[in-house]
Amino acid sequence: MTTNQSVFSDIARDPLNPAPIYRDEQVIVLRDINPKAPVHLLIVPIMPLTSLAQIGPNQESLIGHMLVVAEEMARREGITGSGFRLVVNQGDDAGQEIAHLHMHLLGGQKLAAMG
Ligand code: AMP
Repeated sequence: MTTNQSVFSDIARDPLNPAPIYRDEQVIVLRDINPKAPVHLLIVPIMPLTSLAQIGPNQESLIGHMLVVAEEMARREGITGSGFRLVVNQGDDAGQEIAHLHMHLLGGQKLAAMG
């Protein structure tokens, strides 16, 4: 986990930052700058949690909210019916680059099988 920890934190805590395509009191949603699929969004909590390793019982509602927002974003992008994938990279072995918890939403094409 190497890259700029503050990138998502900076965007999340600036309500005037134009990058988010969605914002509420708990999360923002960004379009990935290096998309791996026609739809590639990032659901990012405003709370500066480094990764899933920092999640505990107190974040249960936040994690649930991230899933609800992901489903809403998929619907807005028109990919609910065709399908999509949600991914959270945790730590080095998963290739987590940004040390601010985020969930990828990928879709808009047939995605490669995972194993
Ligand atoms: P991860 O490997 O799970 O940490 O994913 C980080 C993702 O953030 C990568 O897919 C990057 O392309 C993406 N990314 C990095 N900086 C930005 C940014 N400023 N805005 C949107 N996406 C970004």
